[in-house]
Amino acid sequence: MKRYILYFILASLLLPHLAASSSKVSVKNLRLWNAPDNTRVVLDLSSGIDHRISTFSNPDRIAIDLKDARLSSDIPHEIKDNPFIKRFRYGQYSKNITRIVIDLKKPVRVKSFTLKPNNVYGHRLVVDLFDKYTATAPKVARSAPKHTGIVTVAIDAGHGGEDFGASGKKKTREKKVVLSIAKELKKLIDKDPALRSYMTRKGDYYVSLRNRTMLARKANADLFVSIHADAFRRSSARGASVYALSKRGASSETARWLANKENAADLVGGASISDREDAVAGVLLDMQMDKTLEFSISFGAEVLKEMKKIAKLHSKTVQQAGFVVLKSPDIPSVLVETGFISNPYEERKLKSGKYQRQVANAIYKGIKRFISNEKTAFMTPPSSGKSKN
Ligand SMILES: [Zn+2]
Repeated sequence: MKRYILYFILASLLLPHLAASSSKVSVKNLRLWNAPDNTRVVLDLSSGIDHRISTFSNPDRIAIDLKDARLSSDIPHEIKDNPFIKRFRYGQYSKNITRIVIDLKKPVRVKSFTLKPNNVYGHRLVVDLFDKYTATAPKVARSAPKHTGIVTVAIDAGHGGEDFGASGKKKTREKKVVLSIAKELKKLIDKDPALRSYMTRKGDYYVSLRNRTMLARKANADLFVSIHADAFRRSSARGASVYALSKRGASSETARWLANKENAADLVGGASISDREDAVAGVLLDMQMDKTLEFSISFGAEVLKEMKKIAKLHSKTVQQAGFVVLKSPDIPSVLVETGFISNPYEERKLKSGKYQRQVANAIYKGIKRFISNEKTAFMTPPSSGKSKN
């Protein structure tokens, strides 16, 4: 009896591996996500895959070599209106290598990686194409803010593209709900002559977390609002919450910025700190971070007050966590969890245009009250304001 059990265990350990090596990985689909500065090609696979990417010029093209793969007949050859891609070609490169050739309109920089299954998709191979001659990320430095009194608000709709965020029982996707709320907020802000908006994501594509903060910086944002919807195993969990950066998240970020003094200099009122002692630069940056965090919390509190009027609150005070998108050292930043998409009642609400407009309006009013409370103190770096008093 015991021996049978042992065989059974051995067989169940070995068989999946044997099966994987002898059968082919099927490439079921090829999908594209277009962002303003890149195109993401996604291959849907039946299991994990070995791949290699090569780039060629004259004419510009890339080859994706897949080991032991079988291509479905559904995958496309032709493609319309893509800034990078002319067409796809497929062929058997050698006995066990299948090659996908992407004919390009211009030279690209390529990044590829595989993704494990999630609640929406199975195994995937992701190939990102960027313009070869533009930088990976927007330049970090921004010109010293010349304030005309108009406050620029960066609106950050969470997730996008391959990243669906949370989803509800009725398949409501966080990425879609939060983009709708973001667009409503943009409308309100653009109608207000004292404000200006900037969207870190304008459509259904993914923007990395660091890029979101850098885009906001590049747009000279004075405030940053990230919009999300929660999910939890327990479907009874509900309510909205507002987050600011945690103290620990702030200090690890100070260290990161200090590692690059060019960036750090930009944060303390444009005064160069590259020729100062590390300790001094550290103190200045810490001061900046502390001040920003203080503003973030009072900004969050105003948004929370407004959210309370339209939704049940999950937590009654501003919560703090190490969210990467909240790490700008000099832009007061909050993240609004607009409700639990995993709660059927709140899923229905989040999907409705009415609630989306109410949330946008609550955030807008929070922004307005924060600005009128602080006047524009939050727009002036601590080290440059003092001497001119
Ligand atoms: Zn989210």
